[in-house]
Order: sequence, then structure tokens, then C-alpha cells
Amino acid sequence: MDKWNLIIDVENCTNCNMCVLACQDEHVDNDFPNYAAPMPKHGARWIEIMRKERGQAPMIDVAYMPVMCNHCDNAPCIEAAEDGAITKREDGIVIIDPIKSKGQKHLVDSCPYDRIWWNEELEIPQTWIFDAHLLDEGWKQPRASTVCATGSIIAKKISDEEMAKLARDENLEVLEPEKGTKPRVYYKKLYRYDSCFIGGSIYAKKNTIIDCIQDAVVKLKQNTAVIAEIKTDIFGDFKFDKLPEGSGDYQIEITADGFNKKSIDVVLNESVTLKDIQLSK
Ligand code: SF4
Ligand code: SF4
Repeated sequence: MDKWNLIIDVENCTNCNMCVLACQDEHVDNDFPNYAAPMPKHGARWIEIMRKERGQAPMIDVAYMPVMCNHCDNAPCIEAAEDGAITKREDGIVIIDPIKSKGQKHLVDSCPYDRIWWNEELEIPQTWIFDAHLLDEGWKQPRASTVCATGSIIAKKISDEEMAKLARDENLEVLEPEKGTKPRVYYKKLYRYDSCFIGGSIYAKKNTIIDCIQDAVVKLKQNTAVIAEIKTDIFGDFKFDKLPEGSGDYQIEITADGFNKKSIDVVLNESVTLKDIQLSK
């Protein structure tokens, strides 16, 4: 049968927080029996926007990643719940029963993504319910999706086979797949949040005039093997992206017509902007 999935485009999210507000508007002071008790006005972020800044000036970028319950198919929270307090519906949505879960504070720690919030007043664990109460009324998308002006959040109700194909075709990823939880929330362009780049600007000096070097060949090497090669743009800029964080030692080798070859060693822990790389004759 068809099941719900969420696809989030990290590159398009502008951090406007409309999805966060829509979630609060839907749930603060509103009780949806069998789905979710009211959300506290302060402190709970069932949908939250994470921020990642990469590089250093002048080459710097910022990405925003909305996070929420992943509605995992292999959910540790379901395993940890007593009295069947957390269940997975046939359509893939995970629901924390607002009555059965009362007092089960340990469930907050059962989520490896920190997506369960403790409601101190009601003494229950809570999370984003994919707007299951609205979908059951015939809504085609959760509110987070309907308010997103950039189309960064899209829900899809399709078969697992169709979703697997979509994930392959569009290079969608889930958060921390090594945890084995099988999330139903997928991310597009996740590298903008969880990977590094090595970038820089290349120039030469003619007397007092600074010239950006266009079309310089820049090779990225690791253990003497060339793993990528690009040319600088009109501003003399280059950027190797999608490199794993903390992936160790790299060498940048630069060649340009009429200039001496230049090599730079880089230890990559987080994104690196190599400033002012001057070539000489
Ligand atoms: S509404 Fe869309 S663009 Fe705005 S923060 Fe949420 S996902 Fe990002
Ligand atoms: S993200 Fe956390 S709360 Fe949501 S289903 Fe997975 S383990 Fe449970």
C-alpha cells in the first residue's frame, strides 16, 4: 500500500520558519484526541530549522535543514514504549498515544534524532505527527508543506518501491542511515549541510594590478591520486564540494599557462577557504 514520505530540499530552504509557525499554529492550545495533545507554547520545536555555515570569508555559504520526527520504519521509540504507547500506522506515520504515553519520560531519550519533546505540564512525550489528523480528513499535504513558499517540503504518498526509486533517481538521503532506523523523511542536496568544501581564489600581480586567473587547472589529490579536477571561473575561484567532514589530508595542485605550478596541503576537518593564492612566473 502507499505510505507517506517527506522530501526536504536543503538548498531551497530560506529559514523563513513558516513551517515551524504552521506547526505551532496547528498544535498550540489545540487538542486532537488519539493524535496529539496540545503543544506547549514555549520550548517545544516539533519542527526545527538547523543552520550550518561553511567556509570562511570571502567564500562562505549557509544552509538550513528542517528537522522533525522521521517516522522511522524501524523506530527505536516504538521498541522503548511501554503499553504500546507508540505505534506505526499502515500509512507509515508514527503516533505517540497522548494517553498511554503519560509518564513515559524515558521515551525522550529513545529517539536517536532528539525529536521527542517532553511536555512538562501534561507529562507526556510528543513529536510531529505528520499532520495525520489533517491527512485523515482528506488533506493532500501537511501544513508545513502548504506554507512553504520555496517548495522545500513536499509530502508523497507512494509505495515503498516507488519511494526507493525516487530516492535513487534524485539522490535523496536520510539522516544518519547507519543507525538503521529507516527514516521516511528524505533530504535533497544534503551535502550542503553535512559535507565540506575546499575552495579558493587564484590571482597574479602585474606591478600593482591584481589579475584574477581564469581557467587555471586545479587538481584535488589525496594520497597522490587525483580525485577531482576543475578550472577556475572568471573571478579565479574554484570549489571542490561534497567532501566528507574530517576526511584528512588533501593536496591542491594548481597549473596555469605562463605561471609556476603551485601545491598547497590542506587538512580537512571542516570547510576550508584558501584565501589569496598568488601565482608567480
Ligand atoms: S517554510 Fe520552507 S523555506 Fe521556510 S523554513 Fe520551512 S522549509 Fe524552509
Ligand atoms: S525520529 Fe525518533 S521519534 Fe520519530 S519515529 Fe524515529 S525514533 Fe521515533
